[in-house]
Amino acid sequence: MAKIEIQDLTYIYSEGTPAAKKALSNINLCIKKNEFIGIIGRTGSGKSTFAKHLNALLKPTEGKVILDGKDIWDEPKEIRNVRFKVGMVFQYPEHQLFEETVYKDIAFGPSNMGLPKDEIEKKVYMACEFINLDFDLLYKSPFELSGGEKRKVAIAGVIAMDPEVLILDEPTAGFDPKSKEQLLYQLHCYYKNRGKTVILISHNMDDIAKYSDRIIVLDNGNLVMLDSPKRVFSQIDLLKSIGLEPPQITSIMQALKEEFPDLSDEILSVDEAVEALSNFVKNR
Ligand code: ADP
Repeated sequence: MAKIEIQDLTYIYSEGTPAAKKALSNINLCIKKNEFIGIIGRTGSGKSTFAKHLNALLKPTEGKVILDGKDIWDEPKEIRNVRFKVGMVFQYPEHQLFEETVYKDIAFGPSNMGLPKDEIEKKVYMACEFINLDFDLLYKSPFELSGGEKRKVAIAGVIAMDPEVLILDEPTAGFDPKSKEQLLYQLHCYYKNRGKTVILISHNMDDIAKYSDRIIVLDNGNLVMLDSPKRVFSQIDLLKSIGLEPPQITSIMQALKEEFPDLSDEILSVDEAVEALSNFVKNR
């Protein structure tokens, strides 16, 4: 299981040119082993730039990314192993499909890892089950598939590598509600039952509140908070000042609390709200 420490991380795009843009400023944090981490922040706050540092797609302008005690840039030949250990599902991952068949696309990662053929096959089927992709599609061209199916194939390709840390950048955009819930539930199981770390970037505060142990809040390249969903979403004024809102049910309960101060406002889901409201009514 992997632990990631970020020390004084600063990243500047096109450094030294007139187009230079500081996207991350002096970030310090630690992601423990076997955590489910949410990353939130408005568009342009640095979420993707941060995530790309975790699997060595970007090299810090300053600072370090330390994976299991080792600076990932210390030995350039180790970068490949970092990418096997830390898997990344990009925004619009379906753009990265390129093989003739779905099977080959999903097998690409495990083949690169040098696994034997039967092991690769196992991983491909395991990844299809994970993402609920029909086995009948395996011998089709990825380009014959629907948008949602293509995205599932791309996610399966990363899952097939069985990464210790799985990062997903807005993976459910474009999914129907059922596929979205299925994927989030599977990510939860990957973390809970398989002991892995999952890092989810999302604009959907309900999903982030429901699944995360802790949430990284970014604004303008700065780390604003790293805390539990309850603590993060109780900071309404701070969130508003950086263009974010708590989950809808949390906002409703926070508004109700202004009228009824005895009511709990540390509510993140409809189920919690129902329980809090029925207790409140019983005790009046
Ligand atoms: P987010 O994922 O939160 O939307 P990004 O990490 O994509 O934010 O972007 C952070 C900042 O870096 C933004 O100001 C964005 O415009 C800038 N940026 C992102 N990618 C590039 C790039 N390839 N070249 C220059 N600037 C970039």
